[in-house]
Parts: sequence; C-alpha cells; structure tokens
Amino acid sequence: MRLYSTHSSSLRTTFLHAAVQGLADDGGLWMPDHLPTLAPEFFRDLPDMDFPTMANHVMQAFIGDEIPAKDLEHLVRDAFTFDAPLVKITDRTYALELFHGPTCAFKDFGARFMARALSYGRNQFALANNTPSNAQSGDLHVLVATSGDTGSAVAHGFWNVPGIRVIILYPKGKVSELQEKQLTTMGGNIAALEVEGTFDDCQALVKTAFQDNDLMQRLALTSANSINIARLLPQSLYYFRAVSLLPKEERERLVFCTPSGNFGNITGGLFAKQMGLPITRFIAASNRNDTFPLYLQSGVYTAKPSVATPSNAMDVGNPSNFARIEKLYNGSIEAIRKEVLAYSIADEATLETVVQVEKAHGYVMCPHTAVGYAAVEQYRTEQNDRESTAIVLATAHPAKFGEVIEPVLHKPVAVPERLAEYARKTKHSTVISPVYEQLKAYLLKDV
Ligand SMILES: *Cc1c(COP(=O)(O)O)cnc(C)c1O
Repeated sequence: MRLYSTHSSSLRTTFLHAAVQGLADDGGLWMPDHLPTLAPEFFRDLPDMDFPTMANHVMQAFIGDEIPAKDLEHLVRDAFTFDAPLVKITDRTYALELFHGPTCAFKDFGARFMARALSYGRNQFALANNTPSNAQSGDLHVLVATSGDTGSAVAHGFWNVPGIRVIILYPKGKVSELQEKQLTTMGGNIAALEVEGTFDDCQALVKTAFQDNDLMQRLALTSANSINIARLLPQSLYYFRAVSLLPKEERERLVFCTPSGNFGNITGGLFAKQMGLPITRFIAASNRNDTFPLYLQSGVYTAKPSVATPSNAMDVGNPSNFARIEKLYNGSIEAIRKEVLAYSIADEATLETVVQVEKAHGYVMCPHTAVGYAAVEQYRTEQNDRESTAIVLATAHPAKFGEVIEPVLHKPVAVPERLAEYARKTKHSTVISPVYEQLKAYLLKDV
C-alpha cells in the first residue's frame, strides 16, 4: 500500500510506516494513493462471508503484500472478534450496531486493529533495523486526544501490549461518567490526562507535540486518533458487513447515515464506496457542531470552536478527516455534494428522537445514533425519499450515555456487564491546563 501526505503529494510512505508514524513529517495526514477495486466474485460471495473472512479480503486489498497474507489474516482474526448486527427499526430503516466490542463503541474496530498493526510494525522494523523517522528506541508513546470514546477503545486495544505506553488526553468535565471511568481505570501502561479545556484543546495539544522536533527526538511518539490510517481502514469494513446482512431486495437503493465528529467513520464508508460497494448516498449527521454541513452549503470551510451537546463524541469544530475527504474527491465540492448530504441536528431534536424511537419501536439509542436517526428522517422528508433503504450507524451502546438519555426516557437503561465493571473501579488521572509546556513536561518526566 502506498500513501501520500495530504500536505504534499510527493511525500510518500507505506502502510506500516504510516501506522507507526501517525502523522506525516510535514504534519499532513496519510492518504492511500489509490483505492483498490474489489472483484465481482468478492461481491458475489459477500453475503456468505462472516465478518472476519470479509475483513480479511478487504484489508488484504488495502494493504497488499506489505504484510504476508498469513500474518495479516492473524491480525485481522485477532482484532475482529465481534460482529456488527443489523437491526430493523422500521420499514426500510435499520441500525447497524457497532457497539458489540469491549468498550461498546464503533471505535473498537479501528483501535483493536491499529494496536495489532503497530505492534507488528514495530517488531518488523526492529528486525529489519529500519525505523521510521520518529521511531526512537524505547517505549512507543501513543498519544490520543479523546472526546470520550476513542480513548477507551485505544486504551483497551493497547492494554498490556509490551513496549507501548498510552497517554490519553480528555476534556475535564466534558465526558460521561462511565466514559471517564473507562479512560481512567485501566492502569498499567495507560495514563489519563484530564485537560482543563475542550476536546479541540486536547487535539491541538497532540498536534503541537507532533510538530515539536525537540520532543520527537527524545521520545518515540505516535498518534492513535482517527488521523492514524490503521484506525481508519477498518472503519470501512462494517459498511460491507451491512450490505451483506441486508435482504437482497433492499440492497438496490442504499443510503448510509453516519453520525459524525472528526469524520473518520464516514471516510471509511466513502472508501468502501470507491472500492465498489453499491451505496447511493451518504448522510453526514452532525450535532450543533455544524462545520461540515455549513461547508456543503456555502462552499467555504470554516473551522469553529466546538460547542457541548448531548452527543459529546461528536463535539468537534474542526473535523480532522476533512482533509482526507477533500483529497478523495480531488478538491471538488461538486463531487462531494453528489454523494454526501449533511444535516445539523439540534440538541432538543436529538433527545426527542431518543424518546420517539423508543416509544414507537421499542429501540433505545445513544444520543449520537439519535442524531443520525433524526438526520435520516429529515432527509426522507426533504428529498421525498421513502423507497431507499437507510442504515444508521449506531455508534455507541446507549448505556454509555445513561445520564443523557435516562432523564428523558424516564427509565433506567440496562448496562452490559463489560461496562458495569468499569463503574466499580477507582479513577486515576493527572490534571493539566491546555498549555503545551505542561503536556511536554509530563511526557518527558521519566526520560
Ligand atoms: C467518535 C464517535 C463519533 C464520531 O465519529 P467520527 O469518526 O469522529 O466522525 C460518533 N459517535 C460516537 C459514539 C463516537 O464515539
């Protein structure tokens, strides 16, 4: 697999280097220089494949012979040990449940694969004595800014992996109680920094660290945000899975709706479409953080500070994967508009949707999924489209957001045991201000 930097197309690398490195040297994101087209036989056989078999085909197509087939299959089968069930909510509208992994959010797919790819890559480079520019010897420090779900998925994916330390930055007071427990109770090689600021501050701190040459010389550092290509690629897998699970007659006109924050999840879907998956339309569902919907409307991209909403994992004012989407469509907003519609959903409408869907269909959704469901309803009305099959990506288990939805549902949401376990543990975190020098001092304290 060949990748180029979104900042300069002449800067190139391979998959494992990109995975270990995170961000390119010039601060750009790594982007595949082309996407493979999957063979007609793959699509013919898709409905009969289980998740890991499908995943193995797709990842093989992405990565090619850079990882020997049997090694890649091992990584894939080790990472994807849970499925993405498709649940019918109402006529022609489905939820693709992406929360059956260990931390109950879709990020488990990307994080688990990335953790395994990073360990594998580090070992290969050590054997070959061929290290990417950032890979100093010593522990690899994985920095991750999280608005809630990324941190726990990454922490879980990397927990106890030798030679790796994970440092999570999260905005103090802006993640749910259960999310905070997931971030701060793992211990071992996982540390949590509680930043007195917003998610955008956390993301900016991480970006600054990668541009700090002095730090990069002293520490082996990589990023686990959706800017990491190894996290992004697996996020196309469940779009294939959804199609294979649909009744045949409902695959004709297919609309996917992705609740979006940093736009990594929807980028996975856009990749899947370019690889040949027959998807008619994408709906990017945003909460009040409407940078992307405004961009599609006005043609001008203007980053904004993020605002807090009930769907906190989508509180992003400057979506990091925007650069990749632009490249995917060669900078043509017209081309993007042809495939992607975007809606911004108000907080009240989100909570109202949680209540309505539960009342009408007995289905309890997390606030992020509700933003997606509300966007589908708005789409159906505005575009007068009742015929298409719509699949909403259910991005997290509703119990992760009990304090948001229980007050409006007026009843408790059942908590799966793998979440309840975290709630019983004790929080350990270090508080810092959103000032880069404080992050740097923390990172260098044991060096
Ligand atoms: C991360 C997250 C999102 C947003 O996904 P992006 O890839 O950042 O667009 C949506 N919902 C949940 C529950 C999340 O954890």
